[in-house]
Amino acid sequence: MFSNKIEKFIHDNNYPTFSPKAVFFDMDGVLFDSMKFHATAWVNALHAKGLPFTEYDAYMNEGRTGASTIDELFLKEYNRYATEDEKNEIYSLKSKFFESCGKVEQIAFAAELLTKVKAQNLQIFVVTGSGQASLIDNLDENFPGIFEKEKMVTAYDVNNGKPHPEPYLIALEKSGVKPWEAVVVENAPLGVQSATAAGIFTIGVNTGPLKPEVLIESGAQIVFDGMKELLTEWDNFIENNRN
Ligand code: CA
Repeated sequence: MFSNKIEKFIHDNNYPTFSPKAVFFDMDGVLFDSMKFHATAWVNALHAKGLPFTEYDAYMNEGRTGASTIDELFLKEYNRYATEDEKNEIYSLKSKFFESCGKVEQIAFAAELLTKVKAQNLQIFVVTGSGQASLIDNLDENFPGIFEKEKMVTAYDVNNGKPHPEPYLIALEKSGVKPWEAVVVENAPLGVQSATAAGIFTIGVNTGPLKPEVLIESGAQIVFDGMKELLTEWDNFIENNRN
């Protein structure tokens, strides 16, 4: 099932091989079932400021940094970028609404996949557009022993958030692996675009309300209906391709 896609990936990118040594996980929608809260929080915060925004808009913008989401909306509505003050005010309001949504649950089967990947001695990174301090702290609590502070790329590390390739290019740099030695797990169109623009094999996991075609069209090499399906196929995928 995977060998054709891997061969095509190697060929299209003119890589010498495909030999994963690191897995880069997106966070919201891949590790945490948090997107519904983010969507509600964005809608509430932006409506409070008189700006039009829907939950669907939130899913389509998923992966952007908060500042970039706000700028995009300001460009559309006011034909200008938001000021730093406006961005700070809206983002802190959004964060406040997010905190009030309650406890964020894990995506089902994410912990099992992380444990499996760890046991296979693959480096594990989290690459997120989030700057939500509470969520980043939550990683260790939810998935003890899996993540290390220096193996994270967050909103604080990048000038250009997803869909720009910078977050995944920084992950390649920090992990010291080549693009053909990494795999990305993403759930959102802009995240998939970012990862594929960085030249990395990208697995789309469709955990939200979007149609799976959206992830294929964004460039994902493989798309699964959910984390359970990815967990089931993981060994098949990884063991056939490690040198
Ligand atoms: Ca995501």
